[in-house]
Amino acid sequence: MTFEGGEGAGKTTQIGRLADWLAGRGIEVVRTREPGGTEGAEAVRALLVEGEAGRWQPLAELLLVAAARADHLSRLIEPALARGAWVLCDRYADSTRVYQGGAGGLEPALIDRLHEEIMQARVPDLTLLLDLPVATGLARRHADGNGGRFEAKGAAFHEAVRRAYLELASAEPARIAVIDAAADADAVAGAVRCAVADRLGL
Ligand code: C5P
Ligand code: MG
Repeated sequence: MTFEGGEGAGKTTQIGRLADWLAGRGIEVVRTREPGGTEGAEAVRALLVEGEAGRWQPLAELLLVAAARADHLSRLIEPALARGAWVLCDRYADSTRVYQGGAGGLEPALIDRLHEEIMQARVPDLTLLLDLPVATGLARRHADGNGGRFEAKGAAFHEAVRRAYLELASAEPARIAVIDAAADADAVAGAVRCAVADRLGL
């Protein structure tokens, strides 16, 4: 299962809430994130998120994100799924489609081709898209002091991110559930639980 959404959508908070709820039902949960999740992939994440904006050319950024995903999948995600755990991942392939593709300008066909190679058939059972207005998300990020260099990309980029996510959701409605993330954290957590119960039959 994956959580997706723009800056300040509350993915990290909500993934924690859902992980606790599932664990309370006796499910083994592995909570992880992208870019990152393994030692190697976290090192790649540091290369991506630290340093000045524009440090990486778009194609170089795509390949770094892809390298991190290949490591994460083979070393952490696949073994966890193989022993029956539920993997909750904070961002995954849709982030690449959106940040490097729809909003980043790289060819969707190139990204799909790379994903075929890296992911084989490893598509999430369910993706929760936490959707909210860009201004609300950026205001939250400023409030919690959690902003990174990506905020420097400006409102137009973040609007493109939101649009690209919503396009993915309308293309794949069976996999992607859109959650109104502008509501308070308890309401969002409730909507997430409903979507999980509905779609995964809990
Ligand atoms: O999810 P989180 O906010 O921790 O992600 C870290 C940063 O990496 C975000 O600012 C996000 O915009 C960026 N990112 C990206 N391309 C990806 C995944 C994340 O630009 N494929
Ligand atoms: Mg987060």
